[in-house]
Amino acid sequence: MPSKNKIMALIVQKYGGTSVGTTERIGNIADRIVATKKLGDDVVVVVSAMSGETNRLIALAKEISRQSSPREMDVLLSTGEQVTIALLAMALNARDCPAISYTGSQVHILTDSAHSKARIKEIDGSRIHRDLSLGRVVVVAGFQGMDDNGNITTLGRGGSDTSAVALAAALKANECQIYTDVDGVYTTDPRVEPRARRLERITFEEMLEMASLGSKVLQIRAVEFAGKYNVPLRVLSSFTEGKGTLITYEEDGVEAARISGIAFNRDEAKLTVLGVPDHPGAAYQILGPIGEANIEVDMIIQNVGRDGTTDFTFTVHRNDVEQAVRVLNGVASELGAREVNSDDSIVKLSLVGVGMRSHAGIAGSMFKILADEGINIKMISTSEIKISVVVDEKYLELGVRALHDGFELEKTA
Ligand code: ADP
Ligand code: ASP
Ligand code: MG
Repeated sequence: MPSKNKIMALIVQKYGGTSVGTTERIGNIADRIVATKKLGDDVVVVVSAMSGETNRLIALAKEISRQSSPREMDVLLSTGEQVTIALLAMALNARDCPAISYTGSQVHILTDSAHSKARIKEIDGSRIHRDLSLGRVVVVAGFQGMDDNGNITTLGRGGSDTSAVALAAALKANECQIYTDVDGVYTTDPRVEPRARRLERITFEEMLEMASLGSKVLQIRAVEFAGKYNVPLRVLSSFTEGKGTLITYEEDGVEAARISGIAFNRDEAKLTVLGVPDHPGAAYQILGPIGEANIEVDMIIQNVGRDGTTDFTFTVHRNDVEQAVRVLNGVASELGAREVNSDDSIVKLSLVGVGMRSHAGIAGSMFKILADEGINIKMISTSEIKISVVVDEKYLELGVRALHDGFELEKTA
């Protein structure tokens, strides 16, 4: 075997929709990849569909039928990424940088059969390693895979992040770089709070919480995967130079900031069953059928019973509201509950930080900041490293900015 003098790194780079939104941008990315390659590193690139393309395809399907088969939806949606891999490989080849594009199935990204939210089970990196050893840049379609029966699957919205991390883990890459339209992970979405500050680092645990609570800068599963397989993960800008944000394990000895960030989620709706007879098993009788209908429940509260009845409130994804109300109407009449209400003009605001473990009183400060702005809290839930509240959606910007200001997140900890 020929020996190599230079220790080469293997880098997986992922470029999101905005970053490949036009052919000009694809050209710019090709220039960046050529520059990385010239440093002597091996590069595997994962790309999303051009921005807006996945939504356009979903809209086309809706014009055909209100409810299309999940299998055919995945055949349709996976085409977005197939366009960008080919265009990027062409752009690289045009720059005398040998490149080859592959769909998910061509590099054996094996998933389960849960169309539109498939999980990656296995990746065979041999074909990619062979191309790399021939000096090629390998361009892989994000967001897609193949199940055991050869059906095309997709990984859920934002799933190209997960493709990149899974490939990085399978190929034992030195780093997985997620290039997007912001230059890192911020204390909150910079589009809502322009004073948000870029974080140099954030722990996997906090990033997972931020992603789960609505920060769509990284797909939840990508963070889970990176944490589990110890993939060094960095979020960077496709448009500017910089170090971005490193997602990392918690470091001992460094006092963690009380709050790392504020996440928000506009996708939830609140459902209330009023006048539920207050007896053992009522919660189960309400949530059992919701679970059976495959509807995920997030926050739950039950009021203190009065006059032998209680009110039961919980949140679900907005897409599931109609179905949940149908289920609840059936349950309410069986239970003898008075009424079912739904409210989809709500938003969930959350504070996240591993430092909360060792700092008391954060919830109180949070509630005071919101009260001072006249923002009414409809629901509360807490865990070791987060506090979430549900408020009226008209208070989203005000709430995020007031909390950002109140906890002085614009300042370095
Ligand atoms: P891509 O198409 O590259 O995958 P996304 O739109 O999925 O990009 O993710 C980037 C967006 O995430 C940013 O434009 C920003 O508005 C949003 N975002 C939400 N929360 C944060 C946060 N805490 N830090 C940075 N960006 C955030
Ligand atoms: N194109 C897919 C989406 O829009 C996957 C991705 O961009 O990560 O959700
Ligand atoms: Mg994304």
